Amino acid sequence: MAKILVFNPSNNVMEVYYRGLDQYMPYAKNMTVREFRGSSNSDLLWTDRRLMEAWNKLRTTYGKPIKIGYAFKRIWQGGHGEQSQHYAGMALDMAQNVSSAERDKIRILAETLGVFSYVEPKALTPTWVSANLEKGYYYLSEYIYKQKKVENI
Ligand SMILES: [Zn+2]
Repeated sequence: MAKILVFNPSNNVMEVYYRGLDQYMPYAKNMTVREFRGSSNSDLLWTDRRLMEAWNKLRTTYGKPIKIGYAFKRIWQGGHGEQSQHYAGMALDMAQNVSSAERDKIRILAETLGVFSYVEPKALTPTWVSANLEKGYYYLSEYIYKQKKVENI
């Protein structure tokens, strides 16, 4: 069971959910809590409704399963720059398990849909597709969590 904080920009509310790892993420279709948690073992996760909706659009338009290898990370897990959107629960690393040609299709689709702020160019992430929402959406950064602003949610 994981505690999941989801910022909902339509009413500026930080919503709280408790979900099992095999249940879907709030607002998401075809993305389990386990997939969003990726390699993190944290029982506390956070994201923004807009990332879930961006995923839904990508997944629905593509029309086939898309593996999510990594998404949420706590800052102490390392592996990314301090400003990484992974720590804000705003980044998806996908399509690690398909051919390069199929991955190109997913990358191009993610770019052309315009639902993500940024999709890494192929040269930077040749063996996965990295898409995220921008830093302006950092409602639930590790920094805010450390300031205990969400402790009582
Ligand atoms: Zn990444």
